[in-house]
Amino acid sequence: MITTFSMSTYKVGLKANPNELDPRVPVLMWSTCAYTIQSIERLLMDEEKSLFGSLPCRQDDCLSSLTRFSSACWTAAPVTTTHTHFIRLLAGVAALVPDSQVENTPCILDIDMFHLLVYSVLSYSSVHSLDQSGRSVVDSAHLHLLHLVTVAHLVQILLTSTTEEVCMDQDSGGSEEEELTCQLYNLLRKHLGRWCCHPGVRQTLQGGGVIVRFPRESNRLIELPEDYSVLINQASSFTCPRSGGDKSRAPTLCLVCGCMLCSQSYCCQTEVDGEDVGACTAHTFTCGAGLGLFLRVRESQVLFVAGKTKGCFYPPPYLDDYGETDQGLKRGNPLHLCAERYRKIERLWRQHGIAEVIGHAQEANQTLVAIDWQHL
Ligand SMILES: [Zn+2]
Ligand SMILES: [Zn+2]
Repeated sequence: MITTFSMSTYKVGLKANPNELDPRVPVLMWSTCAYTIQSIERLLMDEEKSLFGSLPCRQDDCLSSLTRFSSACWTAAPVTTTHTHFIRLLAGVAALVPDSQVENTPCILDIDMFHLLVYSVLSYSSVHSLDQSGRSVVDSAHLHLLHLVTVAHLVQILLTSTTEEVCMDQDSGGSEEEELTCQLYNLLRKHLGRWCCHPGVRQTLQGGGVIVRFPRESNRLIELPEDYSVLINQASSFTCPRSGGDKSRAPTLCLVCGCMLCSQSYCCQTEVDGEDVGACTAHTFTCGAGLGLFLRVRESQVLFVAGKTKGCFYPPPYLDDYGETDQGLKRGNPLHLCAERYRKIERLWRQHGIAEVIGHAQEANQTLVAIDWQHL
């Protein structure tokens, strides 16, 4: 059972053929566990619910089984593999400095500390299995790992926080408290050289690449205008990027990144894995790993696409004064954004529920199965 499940996460996660000896198998399992905990925590936080005790029984059971399972998954992999991982993780968490013994030590700003914590806690069990002394050291080791990772996360926050406001206050004669905070901040920055001497840190902070600021924010769908006519105007001035200034027939807005696409048209077809697909399907592979949410502006309709063959339409988050949608824009009444509906769509996306919605829609309406979604 353990082998079957870890093989599934490996196969789906890496799109690879099953190979029980691949050293990435336990990593994929730990990553599944860390990601699941992290996304559940984010969703609860957004709904202003408490971390413990707010989950429905089914989800609660599922989460605790997944955690227990992940802590035992090393038994299905060669012991040397998990030990090598643990040593690499420790090199990452304890040193976080360039080390000639460990190849490609990551820079502190590139690490998701929660994932690192989960990986090290879970892989520690395999190392502990060699300890024959009978003493229980697991709990204290886990606590040490937690402390270390928390401090490293604080450093991430300090490094990527902006100090402009604090300094401005200081110039204008800020209070003693602010001055001390500023001093503490500078002191920490100075003495944390050990973790921060990685060339990657300097490079990132000096503007060499995208800075991920910590603590990280949850992913959100784009902001939509309150008045639908703003989108209609935007779409009517949108021209097909491939046909030199021609108006696009079906301008479609990606709700994940805000990109306007020329959908359902031969001019913007692209080849993906040897097959011609429309602009939306092609975009999903660069924007959402094959999954996409779009707003077809001229139809006032939301489009969900998953992979090349599955898709469905979904009611838009825009309503008229009577609280009704106008799919196809037939009535032409003014439409306004319904924040609640839009949050519902966002929640579906964040809970990985889009594929399920498509599945249900196709089961209920067989004509949807026959549509060539990949041409949209
Ligand atoms: Zn996009
Ligand atoms: Zn086009």
